[in-house]
Parts: sequence; C-alpha cells; structure tokens
Amino acid sequence: MFMNNFIYKGHIVKKYLGQCFLIDNKVIKNIIDIINPLYDDVLIEIGPGFGALTIPVSNFVRKLFVIELDKDLVLYLCNNKLISSNVVIFKQNVMSFNFCYFSLIYNKNIRIFGNLPYNISVSLIIYFIRYINHIKDMYFMMQKEVVDKLISLPGNKNYCRLTVIMQYYYEIFFLFNVYSKSFIPSPRIDSSFVKIIPRSKNIYKVNNIKLFNLIVKSAFMFRRKMLRNSLSNFFTVNDLIKLNINPDLRAENISVYDFCKLSNNL
Ligand code: SAM
Repeated sequence: MFMNNFIYKGHIVKKYLGQCFLIDNKVIKNIIDIINPLYDDVLIEIGPGFGALTIPVSNFVRKLFVIELDKDLVLYLCNNKLISSNVVIFKQNVMSFNFCYFSLIYNKNIRIFGNLPYNISVSLIIYFIRYINHIKDMYFMMQKEVVDKLISLPGNKNYCRLTVIMQYYYEIFFLFNVYSKSFIPSPRIDSSFVKIIPRSKNIYKVNNIKLFNLIVKSAFMFRRKMLRNSLSNFFTVNDLIKLNINPDLRAENISVYDFCKLSNNL
C-alpha cells in the first residue's frame, strides 16, 4: 500500500498503524462542516496524527479528547504550538479505550470522529457496538470498499454479513468520496466519509442477539447457497415458507428485517 520508509514531516510513516495523513484543505473543511462541533459536545477523535482535523476542530469545543497510539505522533502533538490546551491526548490503543467513561462523567452521549487507520477500521466499528448506548454520532473516513458494504442493500454484490450486523445497530449515511491524492502517503484505494448513528429505538427488535449473529453468519458462510441449504440446520423449507421467506433465495437477497424474523423464530 505504501512506499518503504516514507517520510512525512520528519516522521517515518508507520504502515502497520494505517498512517495516511489528510492534506486536502477542502476535504478537511467539508468534514468539519459536516461534524459541526458545538462548544459543549463531548468529542473524541481517533488517531489525530499530525492534527489535520484536531487543530481546526479544537477551535470549536470546550475540550477535545484524542486517542493516538503512535508515541512519536503524541510527542509531535504535545510540542506543537498549534494544538491548544483544550486538547487532551491519550496515548493508547483505541481498541482498549473505555468510551463509557466520558459519557458517564459528562452525563452526555459522546461524538466520535476520525480518519480511521484502515487496517482496523472494521474491527473498530464493531468494537463500538458495545458502547452504542453512550454514542450520539460518529463520522469516519474509511476505505470506500468498506463503506460500500456498510450502506449496501439486499440484492447488491456488496451486501454481506457486515452490512446486516451494522445496519441492525446503526443508521449509516454515505457523505462523500475522497480521492487517494488527498492523503500523504496516497493509499492505493479510494476512501469515503460516512456518518453513523446508533438506532435509538431498534426498529428490528431481536430477542436473542447471539442467535441473530449465528443465523447471519451461517447464511453468509456460503453466500451463493440457497437459504433452504445454508439454513437447513435451523429451518425446514416449510418453516421458511411459513415465515414468508422464499427458501430459494440466498443470504444476499434477505433484508435485515427478515434476518431478525428468522432469529426470533428459532
Ligand atoms: N487524523 C490524521 C489525519 O487525518 O491526517 C491521521 C489519520 S491516519 C489514517 C490514522 C491515525 O490513527 C494515525 O495517526 C495512527 O497512528 C493512529 N492509529 C493507528 N492505530 C491506532 C490505534 N489502534 N489506536 C489509536 N490510534 C491509532
């Protein structure tokens, strides 16, 4: 994805930390306009890097919390005069960060944003599910191919297990695409910016989330198999017909609502 030993601002870019820094001021402005940070928001940025988003966002809010794993970048941020005193830096792995903490301290749901490290972007959005009741909204730059999956609809080639699980928990809005030349170093893939909002009342109402996960996983394990085969351990053809689900369809044709119906009837 990157040239070896790419150096930016005197820093050896760490490929294993998904480091691609935003350099396009128009994109940065668009992102900030969309996030619309308000003074009293409890705002957390993932992976501030050199502060491309951190610096402008910090001008709008009382406090901005940022989580950065790379100690070299943490040092850079601490020494950077442009980073104001209202930015609180955590040198930590975001995948072990307790996001409840701020919501409980401030008695408010948190807002999260970031140009995500692409190597962990999918694990990260899944990690956030456990904090869903503490999150107001999230704004992420991610690989376009991942965003295509997140917003996909039944019948589309991108519709997959991740789509169903994520759409069960969240409303996901595609905002805009970003070309690779907006970053340094340029990734070989395009990126998209998305807004993700936890569903306040889950419209789908699954009785047992483990069963739901199991059904979705089984159905997509062999996505070209008809449901009569992929779900044969759970449902007979008659069961599917009674649920008004055509047994000859495949996982990729079944809506999130139908997956919920299946799991609730196990
Ligand atoms: N926000 C900056 C920008 O847009 O220019 C940098 C974005 S860069 C794609 C991802 C950032 O996340 C890097 O600064 C990287 O060091 C940091 N990072 C990578 N893995 C991380 C992790 N597990 N926890 C916290 N930060 C991480």
